[in-house]
Amino acid sequence: MPPPPRFAADEMLGSLARWLRIMGYDTTYERDRGDEDILRSSKEEGRILLTRDEELAARGALTSLYILSDDLDTQLRQVVDAYGLSADERMVRCTVCNGELDTAPKESLRGQVPDGALENNQEFFKCRGCGKVYWKGSHWNNIRKRLDSLRAQSD
Ligand SMILES: [Zn+2]
Repeated sequence: MPPPPRFAADEMLGSLARWLRIMGYDTTYERDRGDEDILRSSKEEGRILLTRDEELAARGALTSLYILSDDLDTQLRQVVDAYGLSADERMVRCTVCNGELDTAPKESLRGQVPDGALENNQEFFKCRGCGKVYWKGSHWNNIRKRLDSLRAQSD
């Protein structure tokens, strides 16, 4: 299997970047950076540039994708179809900083997450980059729903 694609999302695509991270794809979010800079770093890092800027996409040639829509579901659909991504959540990337997540023993997290969350969940993950703690709490149902609907459309 080829390694999974890595992405760089331009500043118009913050939500898309977050959702690609939820699906486990290494995705940087390029804010406050010039076009030249973004093109150079995505090329150096082997990232596919996702952009709402048609001209920038054209300059990135084969290693960029011009995102057609402002609608998040349509954007996700476009990227999933273009690169054959799997619409599963993998809990391996921080949605905030794109850092990698490690599983974290429950007892090490007392005081860092609400007691209720500690009691009701078994699996916890912590970001190596920013320290944010994750668990599959109630908001997870919403994530599942969106990914399920994405998958349903591919069948
Ligand atoms: Zn993080």
